[in-house]
Amino acid sequence: MDSFVVAIDGPAGSGKSSISSIIANKLGFTHIDTGAMYRAVTLEALRLNIDLNDESNYKFVDNIKIINKLGKTYLNGKDVSKEIREKEVTNNVSTVSKFKTVREKMVDFQRASAKGLVLMDGRDIGTVVLPFADLKIFLTASAECRAKRRCLQNKEMGIEADYDVILEEIKARDYKDSHRQISPLKKADDAILLDTSDMTIDEVVNKIIYLINEKMRG
Ligand code: C5P
Repeated sequence: MDSFVVAIDGPAGSGKSSISSIIANKLGFTHIDTGAMYRAVTLEALRLNIDLNDESNYKFVDNIKIINKLGKTYLNGKDVSKEIREKEVTNNVSTVSKFKTVREKMVDFQRASAKGLVLMDGRDIGTVVLPFADLKIFLTASAECRAKRRCLQNKEMGIEADYDVILEEIKARDYKDSHRQISPLKKADDAILLDTSDMTIDEVVNKIIYLINEKMRG
Protein backbone atom coordinates (compact mmCIF):
# COMPACT_ATOMS: atom_id res chain seq x y z
CA MET A 1 0.00 0.00 0.00
CA ASP A 2 1.49 3.38 -0.93
CA SER A 3 -1.06 5.67 0.72
CA PHE A 4 -2.50 5.44 4.21
CA VAL A 5 -3.22 8.34 6.50
CA VAL A 6 -3.64 8.10 10.27
CA ALA A 7 -5.00 11.03 12.30
CA ILE A 8 -4.11 11.05 16.00
CA ASP A 9 -5.72 13.72 18.17
CA GLY A 10 -5.80 14.35 21.89
CA PRO A 11 -5.11 16.84 24.68
CA ALA A 12 -1.74 18.12 25.92
CA GLY A 13 0.47 15.36 27.30
CA SER A 14 -1.67 12.48 26.04
CA GLY A 15 1.44 11.01 24.43
CA LYS A 16 0.40 11.68 20.81
CA SER A 17 3.76 12.87 19.58
CA SER A 18 5.98 10.28 21.28
CA ILE A 19 3.65 7.45 20.33
CA SER A 20 3.22 8.64 16.75
CA SER A 21 6.96 8.94 16.36
CA ILE A 22 7.61 5.37 17.59
CA ILE A 23 4.89 3.93 15.34
CA ALA A 24 6.11 5.92 12.33
CA ASN A 25 9.64 4.53 12.83
CA LYS A 26 8.40 0.97 13.18
CA LEU A 27 6.09 1.08 10.16
CA GLY A 28 8.03 3.41 7.85
CA PHE A 29 5.42 6.19 8.01
CA THR A 30 6.17 9.92 7.96
CA HIS A 31 5.25 11.53 11.28
CA ILE A 32 3.94 15.10 11.23
CA ASP A 33 3.66 16.83 14.61
CA THR A 34 1.23 19.71 14.01
CA GLY A 35 1.56 21.01 17.59
CA ALA A 36 5.22 21.71 16.80
CA MET A 37 4.08 23.92 13.90
CA TYR A 38 1.82 26.05 16.15
CA ARG A 39 4.68 26.22 18.64
CA ALA A 40 7.03 27.49 15.91
CA VAL A 41 4.56 30.26 14.97
CA THR A 42 4.34 31.18 18.67
CA LEU A 43 8.13 31.31 18.96
CA GLU A 44 8.32 33.65 15.96
CA ALA A 45 5.51 35.84 17.37
CA LEU A 46 7.39 36.12 20.68
CA ARG A 47 10.62 36.96 18.87
CA LEU A 48 8.83 39.66 16.86
CA ASN A 49 7.45 40.99 20.14
CA ILE A 50 3.95 41.51 18.72
CA ASP A 51 0.78 41.85 20.77
CA LEU A 52 -0.24 38.19 20.76
CA ASN A 53 -3.91 39.00 21.29
CA ASP A 54 -4.27 41.04 18.11
CA GLU A 55 -4.96 38.86 15.08
CA SER A 56 -3.91 41.60 12.63
CA ASN A 57 -0.31 41.13 13.85
CA TYR A 58 -0.07 37.61 12.42
CA LYS A 59 0.40 38.55 8.75
CA PHE A 60 3.98 37.27 9.11
CA VAL A 61 2.66 33.70 8.79
CA ASP A 62 2.33 34.28 5.02
CA ASN A 63 6.11 34.40 4.73
CA ILE A 64 7.09 31.91 7.39
CA LYS A 65 8.61 28.54 6.54
CA ILE A 66 8.03 25.69 8.96
CA ILE A 67 9.22 22.15 8.39
CA ASN A 68 8.56 19.30 10.79
CA LYS A 69 10.66 16.34 9.76
CA LEU A 70 12.20 13.31 11.49
CA GLY A 71 11.39 14.63 14.96
CA LYS A 72 12.91 18.06 14.30
CA THR A 73 11.22 21.40 13.67
CA TYR A 74 12.79 24.06 11.46
CA LEU A 75 11.66 27.69 11.48
CA ASN A 76 12.87 29.61 8.42
CA GLY A 77 15.66 27.06 7.99
CA LYS A 78 16.84 27.00 11.65
CA ASP A 79 16.40 24.05 14.00
CA VAL A 80 14.13 25.28 16.84
CA SER A 81 13.19 21.85 18.26
CA LYS A 82 14.33 22.75 21.76
CA GLU A 83 13.14 26.39 21.87
CA ILE A 84 9.57 25.45 20.94
CA ARG A 85 9.30 23.34 24.13
CA GLU A 86 10.24 26.22 26.43
CA LYS A 87 7.72 27.46 29.00
CA GLU A 88 7.04 30.81 27.34
CA VAL A 89 6.06 29.13 24.08
CA THR A 90 3.98 26.45 25.87
CA ASN A 91 2.05 29.04 27.85
CA ASN A 92 1.22 31.19 24.83
CA VAL A 93 0.61 28.63 22.09
CA SER A 94 -3.12 28.27 22.81
CA THR A 95 -3.57 32.02 22.38
CA VAL A 96 -1.75 32.00 19.05
CA SER A 97 -3.42 28.86 17.70
CA LYS A 98 -6.95 30.18 18.12
CA PHE A 99 -6.62 32.68 15.25
CA LYS A 100 -8.04 31.92 11.81
CA THR A 101 -5.09 33.64 10.08
CA VAL A 102 -2.70 31.24 11.78
CA ARG A 103 -4.83 28.10 11.47
CA GLU A 104 -5.58 28.51 7.76
CA LYS A 105 -1.90 28.70 6.93
CA MET A 106 -0.96 25.74 9.15
CA VAL A 107 -3.81 23.60 7.78
CA ASP A 108 -2.55 24.32 4.22
CA PHE A 109 0.96 23.16 5.24
CA GLN A 110 -0.45 20.09 6.95
CA ARG A 111 -2.71 19.00 4.09
CA ALA A 112 0.11 19.48 1.60
CA SER A 113 2.34 17.14 3.62
CA ALA A 114 -0.23 14.39 4.05
CA LYS A 115 0.98 12.31 1.12
CA GLY A 116 1.87 8.62 1.18
CA LEU A 117 2.13 6.77 4.48
CA VAL A 118 1.47 9.44 7.07
CA LEU A 119 0.75 9.69 10.77
CA MET A 120 -0.32 13.21 11.73
CA ASP A 121 -0.95 14.24 15.32
CA GLY A 122 -2.70 17.29 16.74
CA ARG A 123 -6.06 18.56 17.98
CA ASP A 124 -8.19 18.89 14.84
CA ILE A 125 -6.65 16.37 12.45
CA GLY A 126 -9.57 13.93 12.38
CA THR A 127 -12.22 16.66 12.45
CA VAL A 128 -10.82 19.40 10.17
CA VAL A 129 -7.40 18.80 8.61
CA LEU A 130 -7.88 15.24 7.34
CA PRO A 131 -11.57 14.35 7.73
CA PHE A 132 -11.08 11.51 5.23
CA ALA A 133 -8.16 9.91 7.10
CA ASP A 134 -8.05 6.11 6.78
CA LEU A 135 -7.88 5.72 10.56
CA LYS A 136 -8.62 8.16 13.37
CA ILE A 137 -7.51 7.75 16.96
CA PHE A 138 -8.38 10.00 19.89
CA LEU A 139 -5.87 9.55 22.72
CA THR A 140 -6.66 10.71 26.20
CA ALA A 141 -5.57 10.25 29.82
CA SER A 142 -6.34 11.94 33.14
CA ALA A 143 -4.86 15.44 33.57
CA GLU A 144 -2.76 14.17 36.53
CA CYS A 145 -1.31 11.36 34.49
CA ARG A 146 -0.53 13.69 31.58
CA ALA A 147 1.14 16.19 33.91
CA LYS A 148 3.36 13.43 35.32
CA ARG A 149 4.40 12.38 31.82
CA ARG A 150 5.07 15.97 30.71
CA CYS A 151 7.21 16.49 33.83
CA LEU A 152 9.37 13.50 32.96
CA GLN A 153 9.64 14.54 29.32
CA ASN A 154 10.71 18.07 30.28
CA LYS A 155 13.31 16.77 32.73
CA GLU A 156 14.76 14.56 30.00
CA MET A 157 15.04 17.60 27.73
CA GLY A 158 16.66 19.68 30.49
CA ILE A 159 13.61 21.96 30.77
CA GLU A 160 12.22 23.21 34.11
CA ALA A 161 9.55 20.81 35.46
CA ASP A 162 7.38 21.41 38.53
CA TYR A 163 4.46 18.94 38.72
CA ASP A 164 1.87 21.32 40.25
CA VAL A 165 2.68 24.11 37.82
CA ILE A 166 2.56 21.73 34.84
CA LEU A 167 -0.78 20.29 36.00
CA GLU A 168 -2.32 23.78 36.15
CA GLU A 169 -0.85 24.67 32.74
CA ILE A 170 -2.23 21.47 31.20
CA LYS A 171 -5.71 22.15 32.61
CA ALA A 172 -5.61 25.74 31.32
CA ARG A 173 -4.48 24.58 27.86
CA ASP A 174 -7.17 21.83 27.77
CA TYR A 175 -9.79 24.47 28.52
CA LYS A 176 -8.57 26.95 25.88
CA ASP A 177 -8.06 24.28 23.20
CA SER A 178 -11.51 22.75 23.74
CA HIS A 179 -13.43 26.01 24.00
CA ARG A 180 -12.03 28.05 21.12
CA GLN A 181 -14.35 28.97 18.24
CA ILE A 182 -12.32 27.58 15.36
CA SER A 183 -11.42 23.88 15.23
CA PRO A 184 -11.62 23.11 18.95
CA LEU A 185 -10.09 19.94 20.36
CA LYS A 186 -12.83 17.35 19.83
CA LYS A 187 -13.06 13.65 19.14
CA ALA A 188 -14.25 13.00 15.58
CA ASP A 189 -17.41 10.86 15.54
CA ASP A 190 -15.58 8.10 13.70
CA ALA A 191 -12.39 8.21 15.84
CA ILE A 192 -11.44 5.33 18.13
CA LEU A 193 -11.10 6.50 21.73
CA LEU A 194 -8.08 5.21 23.66
CA ASP A 195 -7.70 6.15 27.33
CA THR A 196 -4.02 5.60 28.03
CA SER A 197 -4.06 6.46 31.78
CA ASP A 198 -3.34 2.85 32.73
CA MET A 199 -1.44 1.79 29.64
CA THR A 200 2.30 1.67 29.05
CA ILE A 201 3.75 3.29 25.93
CA ASP A 202 4.37 -0.18 24.48
CA GLU A 203 0.74 -1.16 25.01
CA VAL A 204 -0.53 1.96 23.27
CA VAL A 205 1.95 1.55 20.40
CA ASN A 206 0.98 -2.10 19.91
CA LYS A 207 -2.72 -1.34 20.05
CA ILE A 208 -2.46 1.37 17.37
CA ILE A 209 -0.22 -0.79 15.16
CA TYR A 210 -2.83 -3.54 15.44
CA LEU A 211 -5.57 -1.09 14.40
CA ILE A 212 -3.50 0.16 11.44
CA ASN A 213 -2.75 -3.36 10.21
CA GLU A 214 -6.36 -4.39 10.61
CA LYS A 215 -7.56 -1.37 8.61
CA MET A 216 -4.87 -1.79 5.95
CA ARG A 217 -5.92 -5.39 5.39
CA GLY A 218 -9.43 -4.05 4.82
O1 C5P B 1 0.67 18.96 20.79
P1 C5P B 1 1.25 20.15 21.51
O2 C5P B 1 0.97 20.15 22.98
O3 C5P B 1 2.68 20.38 21.20
O4 C5P B 1 0.44 21.39 20.87
C1 C5P B 1 0.69 22.71 21.28
C2 C5P B 1 -0.55 23.58 21.06
O5 C5P B 1 -0.76 23.80 19.67
C3 C5P B 1 -1.86 23.03 21.59
O6 C5P B 1 -2.06 23.30 22.96
C4 C5P B 1 -2.88 23.77 20.72
O7 C5P B 1 -3.14 25.07 21.22
C5 C5P B 1 -2.15 23.93 19.40
N1 C5P B 1 -2.54 22.94 18.41
C6 C5P B 1 -3.68 23.16 17.68
N2 C5P B 1 -4.02 22.33 16.66
C7 C5P B 1 -3.27 21.26 16.37
C8 C5P B 1 -2.10 20.99 17.11
C9 C5P B 1 -1.78 21.83 18.16
O8 C5P B 1 -4.38 24.14 17.94
N3 C5P B 1 -3.61 20.48 15.32
